[in-house]
Amino acid sequence: MILNKNVLLQSEKLNDRTLKLAFDELKSLFIKRFGSPASNRKRSNIAIKFELKPSAVGFSVIAGPGNLTFRAAAAVEVLYAVYEFAEEFLGFCFFEPGVDRVDKKSARVELKEGTLLANRRPLLANRGFIQEFPFSDDSYPVGDWMAKNKLNYVMTWMKYYDEMPEAMKDFYQVRGIEIESGHHNFNYWIPPEKYYRQHPDFFAIINGKRISPTTDKSALLLSEQLCTTNPELRAEIVKNMASYCQKHPEIKTISLIPNDGFGWCECEKCSSFYDKKAMGGFYSVSEHVYKADKIYNDMVRDVVSQLRKQLPEINVTFCAYINYCAPSKGFKLEKNMAVHFAPYWRCINHQINDKSCSTNSHYAADLEKWLKAKAGGKVNIYEYYMGVNLYISLPMVHHEDIFDEIVWYGEKGVDGILTQFHLPHWTAYGLNYYMMAKAAYGADKKHAVQSALKGIFGEDWKLAGRFYAAMKKLVLSAGNCHIPYPYALFSRTSVAQYRKTHALAQELLKLSTRDKFRKELVLWTEYLVRFKELFDRYHNTGIQVKDVEAFQKWLHKLPPSRILVFSVVDMLLGAWIHCLKTGREWLHFNIDWEDKYIKKHRETLS
Ligand SMILES: [Zn+2]
Ligand SMILES: [Zn+2]
Repeated sequence: MILNKNVLLQSEKLNDRTLKLAFDELKSLFIKRFGSPASNRKRSNIAIKFELKPSAVGFSVIAGPGNLTFRAAAAVEVLYAVYEFAEEFLGFCFFEPGVDRVDKKSARVELKEGTLLANRRPLLANRGFIQEFPFSDDSYPVGDWMAKNKLNYVMTWMKYYDEMPEAMKDFYQVRGIEIESGHHNFNYWIPPEKYYRQHPDFFAIINGKRISPTTDKSALLLSEQLCTTNPELRAEIVKNMASYCQKHPEIKTISLIPNDGFGWCECEKCSSFYDKKAMGGFYSVSEHVYKADKIYNDMVRDVVSQLRKQLPEINVTFCAYINYCAPSKGFKLEKNMAVHFAPYWRCINHQINDKSCSTNSHYAADLEKWLKAKAGGKVNIYEYYMGVNLYISLPMVHHEDIFDEIVWYGEKGVDGILTQFHLPHWTAYGLNYYMMAKAAYGADKKHAVQSALKGIFGEDWKLAGRFYAAMKKLVLSAGNCHIPYPYALFSRTSVAQYRKTHALAQELLKLSTRDKFRKELVLWTEYLVRFKELFDRYHNTGIQVKDVEAFQKWLHKLPPSRILVFSVVDMLLGAWIHCLKTGREWLHFNIDWEDKYIKKHRETLS
């Protein structure tokens, strides 16, 4: 079968919206690949058949005489089959949201008759993003990119879901993407401004005093919780959850997740749930507080069982990290429950299941406990394939490790992989996201990585491989273990390494001077060089406020690009400026307990 610009794609009448989208996408990809069709007379017809077969295992694409069959059990898998076909056979590379790269060097594509793609199935059922920012116009290219890469899940804050336009919900729904309205939400279910006057008893007692909770919606790291053992409070949460689900009948998954940080209630009843000698772990940044798994898991169990009586179809997620990282003794992960397991401040120089890593081995052990606790419920991994937010586009070259980690997750019985992400830093971490999606759908590591590099860099893919290898080497040289925050990387690497990656990026650009992504790699590595130089001057000769401000000014003058999330960079540089003004040592974000961990890492991990 020959595909070229004379081909006319035809299908039977399609009633399903997702199948219609699949056909429209196929037609539009054909035009992007071969150009607009020739005049009618010269056209050859290809019949496109979308077969929904309940017994189908994964999706398949079969070429027959004059026809192409896309077969799967569900419509969304047919859509995936179209995109996979486009990448494997039409020369597309869906690396970046809003940018469909395609190799058009030859005017025609020849397909052999027979099975082109066979039984493609996911390794993990839930695959997606954690969105910690409001929906915007950018959410359209992101949703489009997710479908192209077979991602099907977004976890976001309720306050953002509530502002999501209906048309956008529809856009995600037709692409088979479920949205979980959740994340940190104690203060959404029980807003202080509504409850505090009448029910101060709903809020935590800390250091012998009832807290007066903040009502600032933008505050980070609240470290203020509820008095979670109070039965009236639990009943109120269940009531609010039920009414929320009735108001949003499209929602299938909500969550019950503490406000960010610590601050659990110390009233007499709550205190009976803590062992004041059992502290959290150093690995999970919580050895300064006692464990809260027992009190939190007990609340989850009770709330889910109450809600299930009213709304048996609704799933409730909760999370596991910091001082409630492992399940409490005897806890069962039942039907309607899913835990998001977050290896916060994991080491990125070892894979998650590396027994020799003092940080990750604890996370792997905790994860195995969750998997043992499964009794009808689900386990998702909540990852940070961008370091963490305050790693501000410093390198995390994890796109190959992701395959090994996801295979391991699959073998162990994990149900999903979700990662935090931002569109504005795609140049730094896009390859991680792209390869995460491939890995979660069972792709072969070598083939996927090579195809990605060829799709993005064309003939120069080997040089691009050297660029990423140099970047990976730089990160690995930061020490046996590396927890991703700027101080750890900059204090243990040399400026020459950054200059080397910058030179390689320039070499790539020289070979294709108009390539937008290569231009961004040059700017990204220049950012790294300048940041590292400033960091070294701060430690060697000292710098002044104006030096940080000059760096910040340079950043803000960068041409529009996908290198940095400016709001986060400004926050971190603001913390640096504060240190210069007050004489405090600049380590991170000037939170005392966090700085203590960084000082301890300085001794134990370097
Ligand atoms: Zn209490
Ligand atoms: Zn490590």
